[in-house]
Amino acid sequence: MDRIRHVALSSVTLPLDVPISDAKVLTGRQKPMTEIAFLFAEIATEDGHSGTGFSYSKRAGGPAQYAHAKEVGENLIGQDPSDIGKVYESLLWAGASVGRSGVATQALAAIDVALWDLKAKRAGLPLAKLLGAYRDSVRTYNTSGGFLHAPIEEVKARATQSLADGIGGIKIKVGQPDMKEDLRRLAAVREHIGDDVPLMVDANQQWDRPSALRFGRAVEELGLVWIEEPLDAYDAEGHAQLAAALDTPIATGEMLSSVAEHVRLIEARAADIIQPDAPRVGGITPFLRLATLADHAGLQLAPHFAMEIHLHLAAAYPREPWVEHFEWLNPLFNERLETRDGRMIVPDRPGLGFTLSEQCRKWTVDSVAFGRA
Ligand SMILES: [Mg+2]
Repeated sequence: MDRIRHVALSSVTLPLDVPISDAKVLTGRQKPMTEIAFLFAEIATEDGHSGTGFSYSKRAGGPAQYAHAKEVGENLIGQDPSDIGKVYESLLWAGASVGRSGVATQALAAIDVALWDLKAKRAGLPLAKLLGAYRDSVRTYNTSGGFLHAPIEEVKARATQSLADGIGGIKIKVGQPDMKEDLRRLAAVREHIGDDVPLMVDANQQWDRPSALRFGRAVEELGLVWIEEPLDAYDAEGHAQLAAALDTPIATGEMLSSVAEHVRLIEARAADIIQPDAPRVGGITPFLRLATLADHAGLQLAPHFAMEIHLHLAAAYPREPWVEHFEWLNPLFNERLETRDGRMIVPDRPGLGFTLSEQCRKWTVDSVAFGRA
């Protein structure tokens, strides 16, 4: 039996090239995003195996994730890294006072992802293969070119570039206070890329129920792959009504921070496509639990953000999924993911297939270690 010998936790701030705005900024609820906070966990064992995982937070919460991981992390030393469920539970008990969702479990996500990375690396398999892959590549769409701070000509140019780079679909942000402006941008992009390219929209929770229904009816003929987050993330009933009223599929789930919250969404038939985020729900262990429930309910899967993790999880989902392309995290890692013919290729490197870059070390703002180096 192997034992966890050493754990290093780091808090890393990734700066973004330009301030990012979605509908939450245009409705005045949030400020443009200029950086993303990452929590990295690097775990090493007595037998010389190692794994790296991460969690993240946008706008606020990064220091809290790091602080919680720092408090409970010492419990890892001496545990068998193979027993991921048991290890996870021990960390949950160590932090039981702050609950089983949100920041508390997002802090554990980095550790959980590192343990899965370690297990797959030790087996000499990509994580997708360790979990049981259904495919070697996953349909992919680009999000980063379609934000609302970008003028429409830039959105069109970036869509062209994404398609040239082998990315299969294009998603643009909507949900502005003036819906007519959303419809104009959407029509311009559809005309630019043609009818055959998969196209999605994302309102980032900024409509009320009547506005979402009005938008959905107005775009029914455009053949969108989905309408994402039309309503407040916790309005399961409203999403269910929309999903029943529209032919266009409804997608949501990225903001939910536990399995229990996703169960509510699944049971309410609130979405056709579920969009869990492994770091946000507490790691790969809880993600797998809710993905099983989603498959059982007949839902499609399109995980949110963090393609470096979600490519593997989507490859191991029974129904044909999508993975979201964001190049933002590239500077943190030495490796790059390949896109070809509209799909993202699962790397054949063991584990997640990523190592931390020198740049990532330079952006480290705090770190702590437990155990023997
Ligand atoms: Mg979204």
